[in-house]
This record gives sequence, C-alpha cells and structure tokens, in this order.
Amino acid sequence: MRITRTVLLAFSTCILLSVPASAATPAAAPKKEKPFTPGGRWRAGDESRPHPADVTPPGPATAPSDAIVLFNGHDLSQWTRTGRGTNALPSTTPLWKIENGYMEVTPEGGGIVSKEKFADCQIHLEWATPSVVTGKSQGRGNSGVILSGHPEIQVLDSFENDTYPDGQASALYGQYPPLVNASRKPGEWQTYDIIYYAPRLDATGKITKPATYTVLHNGLLVHHAVEVPGATVESTLSLQNHNNPVRYRNIWVRRLRGYDDPGKPL
Ligand code: MG
Repeated sequence: MRITRTVLLAFSTCILLSVPASAATPAAAPKKEKPFTPGGRWRAGDESRPHPADVTPPGPATAPSDAIVLFNGHDLSQWTRTGRGTNALPSTTPLWKIENGYMEVTPEGGGIVSKEKFADCQIHLEWATPSVVTGKSQGRGNSGVILSGHPEIQVLDSFENDTYPDGQASALYGQYPPLVNASRKPGEWQTYDIIYYAPRLDATGKITKPATYTVLHNGLLVHHAVEVPGATVESTLSLQNHNNPVRYRNIWVRRLRGYDDPGKPL
C-alpha cells in the first residue's frame, strides 16, 4: 500500500494525542534543601557562611600567628611581680632569672603575673624542674600555673616522686589528680596545653555555667572539660614561686573565638 503524506500526518497526530501531557514535558522536581547545621543558622554546604581565619600553626619554638606571646625567651615585659613581700619592694618588676631562652624562679623574685587578662583561651607553656633532685613530695620542683580566681595547675617534679594525687604535676590542685602521670625526668622540658573556658554569669553575677579546663601534659590528656569553681571571667595568668628553681619557656596564649563570628567570644 502506498503511504500517503495525509496518512502519516493522521498517524502522528494520533500518537501525540495519546501521550499524557506530563510525560511530554516532565515537571522539574522540587529542589531539595540541604539540612540545617546545628543551631539552625546555616544549611550544610553554604558557601556564604563566614570562613575561619587563617592561622599559621606553631613551630617547635614559635607561637601561632594569632597568639599573644607572654614569654619569647628574652624579657619579662608581659609580666609583673606578685606574691610575698612584693608590696614592700620599690617596684613590681619581675626578678626571675633569664638565660638561654628560659626564665627561672628565684628565691627573691616572688611569683609573676601577666599584664594581660584572658577569658576563653588556649595556653601553651614549657617548663622544667631542676635536673639535680633535692627535696621530696611537694618540695621537689614545685611551681604552678594559675588563672586568677581558679585552681592552680600544679607544676612539680612527679617523676618517681610520691605525693598526694591531687597535688602532683598537672593536678588541678586540691581538686582533681591528672588522668595519668605523664611526667618526664627531672631537668627535661615538659609541656602544658590548656584549654580554658571562662564561667558564664547571669546579670546578678551568679554562675550559670562553670569554668572548665582541658589540659594536656606532654601531649597526653590529663583533664577533659573539667568544671571548676570560680566566678572570675577575665583572669590574669600567674606562675607560682614555691622557692624551687623551676624554669619556663615558650609561653603563649590564644583568645578563643566562636564559630562563624571571628570577632566574638564563644
Ligand atoms: Mg605549686
């Protein structure tokens, strides 16, 4: 049979009429929104979310680029003297010895306290107890790191040196012993890395969320988000004089900021 143009046209028209409109022009599927991230302010993958600041990490003896350097091995310009007898002295200039990139507690030097105050912060410091061991228990390489208004983080020669657990090296003194004793031998340099969150207070000054400490001693976790008493929000950082020639070096502090708001505290 000869297929004429008229027959073809009639056939194709029949096919078109038999196809549902929806199949001919499929409707676009609704775009699926990505889920909100915690807090409900941003959706996952939102490129308009504020980017974290670029920070150069620390080196073996250098601070990260966003840190406040409290001791660079050369001077005590970031510190004043505190403790017994200070008021009777003509100035509050620190009297600790400085040599070979470290500072050392001296009998007449009192304690030292930072000029800067800190709320939420990350602290790094290195310390060494005397290589020649004298004394025992709390009389052996005793010093300490204190954010004002909060417990001392004990500095002590705790290498094969028995003392009460909540008074040994890296203890939150009188409250919590460290999770492990990570002490190195006398005279060897040791590190503390401390993450401190200040307490939150209501308008009346009542603590609504206690301060917390997370502490690593020589890279090992010894306290994890431990709640401590104290209502001081902005604290100075003190190093204790316990009449033992303990040495410190490479001390820096980073003020911690919140997600998405680089200029605001957490
Ligand atoms: Mg102490």
